[in-house]
Amino acid sequence: MTTQQGMFGFAETPEWQQAAQEDVQIADVVFNLPLERPYSYAVPEPLRGRVQAGQRVLAPLGRSNRSVVGYCVGVRPFEKGQRALKSITELLDAEPLLDSSMLELTRWIGERYLCGWGQVLDSVIPAGVRRKSGTREINALSIVEGVEDVLNTPRLTRQQKNVLEILLKEGRPLPAAELCERAGCGPGPVNTLRKRGLIVAERVRTEVAAAEQRDVETQEDLLMNDQQLKALEQILRPIRAGEYETLLLHGVTGSGKTEVYIRAIREVVSYGRQAIVLVPEISLTPQTIRRFRSRFSSVAVLHSHMTDAERHWQWQQIASGEIQVVVGARSAVFAPTPHLGLIVIDEEHEPSFKQDSTPRYHAREVARKRCQDEKVPLILGSATPTLESWLRAQRRLDTLVSMPHRVAGRPLPPVVIVDTRSDPRMARGYSLGRAMFTAIGTALKANGQVILFLNLRGYSPVVWCRSCGTGLKCPNCDISMTWHRDRAAIVCHSCDYSTSPPSQCPSCQSPAIRFLGTGTQKLDEEVQKAFPEARVLRMDSDSMKKPGSHDEALDRFRRGEVDILLGTQMIAKGLDFPNVTLVGVIDADTMLRQPDLRAAERTFQLIAQVAGRTGRGERGGRVLVQTSSPDDKAVKFASKHDFLGFAQHELAERHDAMAPPFTAVARVIFRGPDEQRTRQTAIAVADKLKAARQGELQSLRVLGAAPAPVVRLRNLWRFHLQIVGKTHELVRQLWMAVESTLTLPDDVELAVDVDPMNAR
Ligand code: ADP
Ligand code: ZN
Ligand code: ZN
Repeated sequence: MTTQQGMFGFAETPEWQQAAQEDVQIADVVFNLPLERPYSYAVPEPLRGRVQAGQRVLAPLGRSNRSVVGYCVGVRPFEKGQRALKSITELLDAEPLLDSSMLELTRWIGERYLCGWGQVLDSVIPAGVRRKSGTREINALSIVEGVEDVLNTPRLTRQQKNVLEILLKEGRPLPAAELCERAGCGPGPVNTLRKRGLIVAERVRTEVAAAEQRDVETQEDLLMNDQQLKALEQILRPIRAGEYETLLLHGVTGSGKTEVYIRAIREVVSYGRQAIVLVPEISLTPQTIRRFRSRFSSVAVLHSHMTDAERHWQWQQIASGEIQVVVGARSAVFAPTPHLGLIVIDEEHEPSFKQDSTPRYHAREVARKRCQDEKVPLILGSATPTLESWLRAQRRLDTLVSMPHRVAGRPLPPVVIVDTRSDPRMARGYSLGRAMFTAIGTALKANGQVILFLNLRGYSPVVWCRSCGTGLKCPNCDISMTWHRDRAAIVCHSCDYSTSPPSQCPSCQSPAIRFLGTGTQKLDEEVQKAFPEARVLRMDSDSMKKPGSHDEALDRFRRGEVDILLGTQMIAKGLDFPNVTLVGVIDADTMLRQPDLRAAERTFQLIAQVAGRTGRGERGGRVLVQTSSPDDKAVKFASKHDFLGFAQHELAERHDAMAPPFTAVARVIFRGPDEQRTRQTAIAVADKLKAARQGELQSLRVLGAAPAPVVRLRNLWRFHLQIVGKTHELVRQLWMAVESTLTLPDDVELAVDVDPMNAR
């Protein structure tokens, strides 16, 4: 923290005396700490009346009294009999960074996800907003008309003239800082010119954003079909009534959900309100953005690749109310719309809506809370809703809106399950079984395009010693190394450690090291050999490192410059290519065999989503799924496009297992460099939790402590435990009863994950 950020700082804090003054104020402050309670400070004389909730302050913390940045979350009058308090040292923001409803939302997140309020605030407010907030002047300067006439009058100094000439030549408004820099002067000449009315400050769009918006053609509304009209009608009811309601829009792939969102948004925009549309980060493609830009005049896009300055600018545009629609990934749920009218979450089932670092919130739950507070509807759209959302709709807590048919009466593609255990080609080591090989050939011959999906990148996912059967693991992680032939290296996909492959087994010194299994690189090679005429494009995080390469690749595929697109989940999401007549899932087992509560659900989602990539045009299409478990329920239901059947089956299993969505789970992960100490800490905390189960909390289960499925990650040992209860509130109560009594060894870290999605 540099001193220049303190706007109202003063060098010495006079020790505040406990006086019976009536007008003494107390500020409640939270810090970026995993503790839930606010600290109270006295507001010293020079700051009285200026400190508000939502502003940042500097305040002394702990025994060392080090000044630490915190967020003021409330100001209240002094209560008689209160003990002497430390004082706030500095006020860092002239205005609150968040309004009261956003403060309440962040407080709720801390409570719901068992982390500190300050941790939530620190993560939710963009860095650019925090940094620039002291100098809110984002106005740019431009010249008034007719200024050319005064340019040569002797009333101007050389520097003032210089400033005017730069603005004239530039022909657009410039931010003050940039103007001064280019004119090589301080703020003096600029201020004088402003006072004399020769230049004026105005709000302008930055170059980047203006350019994005420009080349989008506006598009006519589609003529909605009956199914869409009926869905829209259900959604408009709470919008018109000004009520909160969560609507689960269950519509098969290609049923035209986006058009329904757009019409609903149109309605709230007509009231002068704003809508937020959340999509998975990977779906924030130019195509998606264009779909909204072509229908609304001001659309802001928030994604994770933005610079702090861009994000700050967007944030302010949104806060000013000029934006109609905010389209963004997970964190856009915090967009500071002044009059929110609707939140839409598309592809509601996507795991990326859950943040996997503190605060580990799920955007769907945050959106639900925000919509409840602001009395507006929430739409969750998916062809494969999460069982959490599905159960809520079944219990009539949320409203189910169904769109079971594709637009224009197009059928869902037939899905063929291929048993890999008896495949003659695969027995010879190929990854494309006989049926897959034939189907690709047929599709290409008919000038159709093909998508092949494989969820393993690299060349071979296993490095194995044939003599002793040992699989080679990363020295830092409990993770198999993957062979990347193009780099001649074995790589850990968790920590990115890479090294050249060993010439002999580290366990038995045998030279019989083999690379087993198929990743996208090996598949790429096999496909090119099998279909030498075809133009093949591989899409995974190795081949798509350059920014923009992902969009460019999809464009090439769309233009028909590529026949076979193969890759990881990057290609399974939301793409709409009418000429795709075959989709192949190379290995459905990779998902199915994960030691994860949601393995079946993810497998079902994957097959349904990839099936959604074909049969979108007039030409129809089909899907081939290779698996060694053709009788698995998830695979079978998916092949019949039977979400209802799958949900019923899987919910019954979860119910029997007392698993989510029938229970609430908090996972506590312990990490440390020392295996024993980490294990002991985890066990001690588990014991404390078990002992604290009294009264109402007796019904809770504490599972573990036990080694985490990945017991070592980035050189740290990992142990975990789980608290399972009927409700989140019960789980929270047990954790809170124990958390404040915990003292951890210095080298053991703890993270709490409520509703964990990641089983590692
Ligand atoms: P979903 O999101 O449900 O998978 P989309 O919203 O992407 O489906 O729609 C699939 C395709 O159908 C898109 O190309 C869209 O333009 C088209 N579409 C949607 N509604 C209609 C309609 N009423 N008439 C004609 N085409 C439509
Ligand atoms: Zn060996
Ligand atoms: Zn590693």
